Amino acid sequence: MDFMAGNMGWIEVICGPMFSGKSEELIRRLRRAMIARRRVQVFKPIIDDRYSKDEIVSHSEQRIPSTVVQGAGEILKLLDWRTQVVGIDEANFIGPGLVDVCNQLADSGKRVVVAGLDTDYMGRPFPPIPDLLALAESITKTLAICMRCGNPAKQTQRLIESADLIVVGAAGMYEARCRACFEAGAPKQEYLPFVRPPG
Ligand code: ADP
Ligand code: ZN
Repeated sequence: MDFMAGNMGWIEVICGPMFSGKSEELIRRLRRAMIARRRVQVFKPIIDDRYSKDEIVSHSEQRIPSTVVQGAGEILKLLDWRTQVVGIDEANFIGPGLVDVCNQLADSGKRVVVAGLDTDYMGRPFPPIPDLLALAESITKTLAICMRCGNPAKQTQRLIESADLIVVGAAGMYEARCRACFEAGAPKQEYLPFVRPPG
């Protein structure tokens, strides 16, 4: 889905656990769009300033310039309406408004490429990614390598005790695990309004 015929927009979702190559794949697609001389804008939520505030950086040190947003509404405010391709990383941290924003962008003829975690550290679907999957034209599920056994890994294992749903970090705080090796994280936690409690 690398080309854009006429004015038709669409939504592509790249999802999977941490370390599965979501950012790499997002960067790859956006670079190709730039090579095709499409106008590209890239956004990420404020929560993810681990490495850089004005770039998306993959765990393998690939980078692409991006703009930090507080929430989904800000994407619309900061959007240059000449933009043809909109990239969004860490979509699971943007909140429920992202679904409408992606739909609006796609309806207005833009190619929207969204990357995010599809499950949280307890293994639960991470809103609003499930809704985006239902509405997308294209879905790519990336798997990492299980750090315990070497099998394909779909889970993000938290390695530290924390009461927070979101603890931003990378190597040392989280690792990829397969279904068999995954142990759901610390039970005590606080919920963001858009995250469904268990049960
Ligand atoms: P994501 O955005 O899904 O967190 P990134 O695109 O930032 O992933 O990083 C993917 C890169 O992370 C891989 O190409 C590899 O170099 C590195 N990596 C580190 N740990 C793992 C792992 N357990 N499985 C796969 N890749 C890993
Ligand atoms: Zn395993």
